Amino acid sequence: NHQQNEIVCSAKSQNESFTRGTIAAFFAQINPTVEQINDLKTAVSEAVTNCIVHGYKGKDGMIDISADLYENSIYVEITDYGSGIADVQKAMEPFFTTVSTGERSGIGFTVMQAFCDDVQVSSVVGSSTTVKLTKAV
Ligand code: ATP
Ligand code: MG
Repeated sequence: NHQQNEIVCSAKSQNESFTRGTIAAFFAQINPTVEQINDLKTAVSEAVTNCIVHGYKGKDGMIDISADLYENSIYVEITDYGSGIADVQKAMEPFFTTVSTGERSGIGFTVMQAFCDDVQVSSVVGSSTTVKLTKAV
């Protein structure tokens, strides 16, 4: 007894706002607070940015986003088919980044964890990465 939607988009930075806005509109159906909507938008942005920057490293690729809406929560899965993550536990540590240019702070996963009720990451090196976000109302 729930609704499911999927977005398939190319890994371009312009699609970051498209995806977070679409997920926010879907989430709005269960009457979250403005703060809860903004939290989810921020988390989705971080995950999608990671697909573009780390998964595909600016090269072409697709991002799949599926969202399941329940009475009191939303579950969002964000998948890329790029580089993958060798050590997920390490990647999720605050301030850990593999970008050495100083452009990245290494706090994307920390932000997702702070703004969602649950964050799970699964990855296969050279194949795919999936980030699973749960946000309750
Ligand atoms: P920030 O998010 O603060 O700009 P960041 O992206 O490096 O910096 P996180 O979002 O926490 O920090 O990600 C930590 C590390 O996990 C990244 O530096 C990268 O090595 C790896 N990573 C994250 N998402 C992916 C992904 N989709 N594919 C491959 N590697 C990833
Ligand atoms: Mg990041």
